[in-house]
Amino acid sequence: MADTFKLHIVTPDKAFYDDDVNRVMFKSTEGDIAVLYDHIPLTTTLTSGIAIIYKDNKEITAVLHGGFAEIKEESVTILSDAAEWPSDIDVDRAKAAKDRAETRSREQEEHISQARVNASLMRAMARVDLIEYHKNKSND
Ligand code: ATP
Repeated sequence: MADTFKLHIVTPDKAFYDDDVNRVMFKSTEGDIAVLYDHIPLTTTLTSGIAIIYKDNKEITAVLHGGFAEIKEESVTILSDAAEWPSDIDVDRAKAAKDRAETRSREQEEHISQARVNASLMRAMARVDLIEYHKNKSND
């Protein structure tokens, strides 16, 4: 197939996505990354954020939580701690988790690890962002 490459997204419990795609965008710890056909090889780590897969002129969206990506000439493999489709996400639960993490972050309670609070906030924000992105797209 012209101008496509293999994308594998794997989590500890499943093969989340496996197909030929035209482009993938995701959030690395260094910033947003877009990988197109004929990309240069690279290895990078992920943070929680939206991933957008482009296949046959269609966008497929998901949220990925951490892990790393191995970008080779013919394929991209993302090993992620967790991955969710929009339909997996309970937005009220994510908003409640976001509020809880924001409160904990403000209050800086000594017995709560701020690194865990930040990670939880990032996960919740990524979930809420994905649902918002999805809603905006369907209003286009
Ligand atoms: P919460 O405080 O709401 O449990 P969390 O950030 O602690 O959020 P995680 O540790 O990221 O939750 O995930 C634990 C499990 O719960 C995973 O299987 C994840 O997919 C699921 N999960 C977490 N938040 C949501 C959500 N908003 N909607 C659907 N599933 C969720």
